[in-house]
Amino acid sequence: MANKLLMTPGPTMVPERVLKAMARQPIHHRTRDFGEIFNSMNVKLQEIFGTKNYVLTFPASGTGGMEAAVANLFRPSDKVLAVSIGVFGDRFAQIAKRFGVDVDMLSYEWGRSASPEDVVARLKERKYKGILITHNETSTGVINDIKSICKSIREVDSDILIVVDAVSSAGGVPVDVDANDIDVMITASQKALMTPPGLAFISVSERAWKSIETDPVSYYWDFNAAKKGLQKSIPDTPYTPAISLIVAQNEALSMIMEEGLENVFLRHQKIAAATQAALNSLGFELFADKSDSSPLITAVKAPDGFDVSRFLSLVDRQGVVLTGGQQHLKGKIFRIGHMGYINKEFLLRAFEAIEMAMVEMGFNIEKGISLKTIDETLV
Ligand SMILES: *Cc1c(COP(=O)(O)O)cnc(C)c1O
Repeated sequence: MANKLLMTPGPTMVPERVLKAMARQPIHHRTRDFGEIFNSMNVKLQEIFGTKNYVLTFPASGTGGMEAAVANLFRPSDKVLAVSIGVFGDRFAQIAKRFGVDVDMLSYEWGRSASPEDVVARLKERKYKGILITHNETSTGVINDIKSICKSIREVDSDILIVVDAVSSAGGVPVDVDANDIDVMITASQKALMTPPGLAFISVSERAWKSIETDPVSYYWDFNAAKKGLQKSIPDTPYTPAISLIVAQNEALSMIMEEGLENVFLRHQKIAAATQAALNSLGFELFADKSDSSPLITAVKAPDGFDVSRFLSLVDRQGVVLTGGQQHLKGKIFRIGHMGYINKEFLLRAFEAIEMAMVEMGFNIEKGISLKTIDETLV
């Protein structure tokens, strides 16, 4: 079967160089060979996170990382404020509830971002041990202004634990964990980090370590055990790690560093702008406001009578995978992921498929208009 072009909210495309790095025998994890690769990956992750904190690695998708954070940080009946602007914000709250945490919600209509003023108002009403917040809400294509939100939080509460889901943002936009005083930030390998799914990465601040007990409820996800592994002269993990994925992730991070983080961020912005312009040229409207639309994924309103599932399957027939909306947005939007290993060539391929699908669906479009727009926007 031919490879398809994934322009989805994850998993995303993996560069050939990363695939090759993975295609070798496992390196034993209690050896210097592995320790060097693991250390090299960790140093680069710290750079991407913008932190001096330990970044812990677990074999999991992003949700596993979110659950690990909750299991280590909170106890039943701890009070937590969960800020939700979509599917992933809701998921974080549900995880905490499952652990018996006393969760209050600050929820927004899907398609909108969270406001720092609302967060502050809620923090003034009740004392919370932690706040859960999504950086980039992949379900709606909306990015929260995490810098302003963190700054506002710290103005009213200097010891609340700020826990950020940066699963779809880290590596594509700045996250600046230390500068924003974020206590725990979670990301995963399969979005902007250009690696297959299976690794979750979690940074933990000094403030957070103080509240992590020596015996968290979970054995496998014990942050202290993971930290001990990182403190060894030859770092390792408490249990057998996902060795091949770590080798791959290290390679992908090397590619990011070679390109330069600032250049990577700029590339994401330019690709997002070109995507939006191309969609507009075809007459589509974006789901999110321009001011908080995501540089990593674009959500598009389905015009009246537009059959999203037919559209997606026509696009898929051209070898391009896009996604629809989740929950009540099903049938109402479709989403184009443009994070990680993304470039002009991929974008052109995607829009070629989109145009073909539209023609097949009977839309009267000027053929090649979106490709021309991309060509003009991305120089
Ligand atoms: C993808 C994603 C997750 C985690 O999903 P997994 O499928 O478990 O990796 C969490 N939050 C956001 C914002 C995401 O985009």
